Amino acid sequence: MHGSWHRYPPGERWRRPPSRARLVLEVPGSVAVCFDAPVVELFEQRVEPLHPSLSALGPDLLAPAPDLEDAVRRLRDPARAGWTIAEALLDQRALAGIGNEIKNEVLWQASLSPWRRVGDLDDAALRRLVELGRDVLRQGAATGRRPVHVYRRAGRPCPRCRAPIRVEHQGLELPRLTFWCPVCQGPGPDGR
Ligand SMILES: [Zn+2]
Repeated sequence: MHGSWHRYPPGERWRRPPSRARLVLEVPGSVAVCFDAPVVELFEQRVEPLHPSLSALGPDLLAPAPDLEDAVRRLRDPARAGWTIAEALLDQRALAGIGNEIKNEVLWQASLSPWRRVGDLDDAALRRLVELGRDVLRQGAATGRRPVHVYRRAGRPCPRCRAPIRVEHQGLELPRLTFWCPVCQGPGPDGR
């Protein structure tokens, strides 16, 4: 998933330049800004099941009662068994809503290496990641702020164990930056 939503009180300075805003929604007491999204479409909710890409999306983790078992089943798809868990969490066909920042946060909260293969994780581990994703997204939606423990903190101490946070590009089709703690989450692709 590309782009991100920020919510601000009216009049507050945005944390990204206005030139990167793709959509701005203003309601009394709040301004929601979508930055950097490559595509923005506006349509009625009732046509969502017919939309070519939206109809293929996994469960929306920001829905009132997302089907978490369905998300785990989709992550379990044999086609994804060889993927790293960091890449799988970004696949919106498995579960919808997790972007790169939240991917990093969720894996840190779960103390799991982003380079673990999906096929090597049991259902309980996948379920925990999906629940954490839902919780972090809800927290962001409710407060306008998300917990950030490793994202864009390369070289700084891990808030849990004080080891320096590492960063690497990850993913073949669409490499994204992965930040993680090699001590409490586990080694990276180089085994360190
Ligand atoms: Zn750590």
